[in-house]
Amino acid sequence: MRLAIFPGSFDPITNGHLDLIDRALKMFDRVYVAILTNTSKKPLFTIEERLGMMRECQRSERVLVGSFQGLLVDFAHAQGAAVIIRGLRAVSDFEYELQMAMMNRELAPNLETVFLMPKNVYSYLSSRLVKEVAVLGGDISKLVPKNVEEALKRKFDTPSNS
Ligand code: ADP
Repeated sequence: MRLAIFPGSFDPITNGHLDLIDRALKMFDRVYVAILTNTSKKPLFTIEERLGMMRECQRSERVLVGSFQGLLVDFAHAQGAAVIIRGLRAVSDFEYELQMAMMNRELAPNLETVFLMPKNVYSYLSSRLVKEVAVLGGDISKLVPKNVEEALKRKFDTPSNS
């Protein structure tokens, strides 16, 4: 069984993340979406909220969802994964992602990082931008799944458009 780990903050999950999961499912038997708990970023959603939203929008039994802390390479080994999935949207992602992939290779030479590109329309999309638009009451309905849109509205207490 080929298992790939897709790690990230997912604060919150967007259609860009879901697009990547769908692509990864074409290449791997299972995809483990792993939410990092010890990020230096201050998250908007708690781990429990992010796990819940992620589970609500999963359509395939081949997608596993969980959280982890500590080194990604240790978590990947513990799960029996040989591949890390990361997304590349624009050239701006490349430098950071390359550094991280090289560091992970240094730590765990048998673990490969595979980069996937989302559909064009999601290549400008990030969790950060979604939050910035949502806090101002902008329409994010095409950028995130419905449950995330509603969760953002509740967080920011903006009126529903639907
Ligand atoms: P992190 O804090 O690890 O960057 P994110 O949740 O922002 O966590 O991103 C997790 C992964 O998903 C990263 O590899 C990122 O490049 C990728 N990603 C984020 N948004 C998109 C998107 N719109 N399209 C494709 N990949 C994306």
